[in-house]
Amino acid sequence: DKVLVTGANGFIAVWVVRKFLEKGYAVRGSVRSADKGKFLKEMFKSYGDKFELVVVEDITKEGAFDEAVKGVDAIAHTASPFYLDAASVDELIGPAVNGTTCILKSAAKNGQGVKRIVITSSCASVVEVGNDKVFTEKDWNELAIKEVKEQGDEASGLAKYFASKTLAEKAAWEFYEKNKSDVKWDLAVLNPPFVFGPIIHDVKGVDSLNTSARQWHDTVLVDGKPKDFLTTQGESWIDVRDVAEAHVLALEKEAAGGERIIISEGSFVWQDWIDAANSLSPSPIPSHTPLPVGYPGAGRTAKPPVVYDTAKEKRILDLKYHTKEETTRDILADFEKRGW
Ligand code: NDP
Repeated sequence: DKVLVTGANGFIAVWVVRKFLEKGYAVRGSVRSADKGKFLKEMFKSYGDKFELVVVEDITKEGAFDEAVKGVDAIAHTASPFYLDAASVDELIGPAVNGTTCILKSAAKNGQGVKRIVITSSCASVVEVGNDKVFTEKDWNELAIKEVKEQGDEASGLAKYFASKTLAEKAAWEFYEKNKSDVKWDLAVLNPPFVFGPIIHDVKGVDSLNTSARQWHDTVLVDGKPKDFLTTQGESWIDVRDVAEAHVLALEKEAAGGERIIISEGSFVWQDWIDAANSLSPSPIPSHTPLPVGYPGAGRTAKPPVVYDTAKEKRILDLKYHTKEETTRDILADFEKRGW
């Protein structure tokens, strides 16, 4: 079977592509320019013609994926902007929402062989900041949509990103509900919280790291973070390799069709990652000795910032999650190799 993976050069997507190839699938990866795909061609050259690239310059343009969806059996749509300092609402919501509806429209029109579409949504479209409840797949982040509606470009960067993911996922379900009797495919949506893990995408340096990896890097390796931040702030998390595995399972498991699924290892406050880094012996990153220590153990007694119910994931996907220590070891070993 052949899978189209959109935004194939991203932090999560390269692991998704790799996982599909390892499992024997052929992959067509979409990127915005041929240049951005060069490292992928090199990385996956041992797979020969089982890995190919397609350039889709503007994912928001009507018909953008009309050619790319031809001849594939499934689609994993990961492309979407993720940064927290957007100046305008439109720069995030435009590509997030229109990118999603564009690929669904192209799949409806030209994706005769497509049986399932997996969308990389986010817990951003589930969680409402400040609400203490245990969040489930029934929850939607209406708060972010409200903030963006009321405040426009003055809304916080976080709200803009959260709203972009919520509106994109809503648009996907709406399109599917309207068209499901006419299309041969169904939809499965994954909702990961913060994603951390070693990097295999093309990154020139720390400054160009993707948002979640950059936050992890700066928290664990840069000293002087305030106590309040380290011991009360955090979210839930999942290892990037488990996210990749979840994409394969969401495509293969019949029961994932028609479902949004929260995938999460558990919660963290940022101090937990500092503790995990300091617990490893020998240090995977000897060039940073000593590592910042923050406020050792404070995470153990901290209130978990956000809690998700992952019963649906257990029932349908049954992921084996990496632990904080395993993920930390592999990230730090990767940083050491890069001299960061
Ligand atoms: P990256 O920034 O590493 O990757 C984002 C991908 O989307 C890149 O391929 C990028 O292409 C593409 N993209 C961004 N903006 C546009 C645009 N305007 N038009 C077309 N393509 C675009 O981020 P991640 O790998 O972290 O994110 C991948 C997906 O996972 C996103 O949907 C994100 O919302 C979701 N996610 C991420 C989490 C995390 O913690 N990392 C948590 C939960 C969900 P280009 O390189 O050309 O810009």
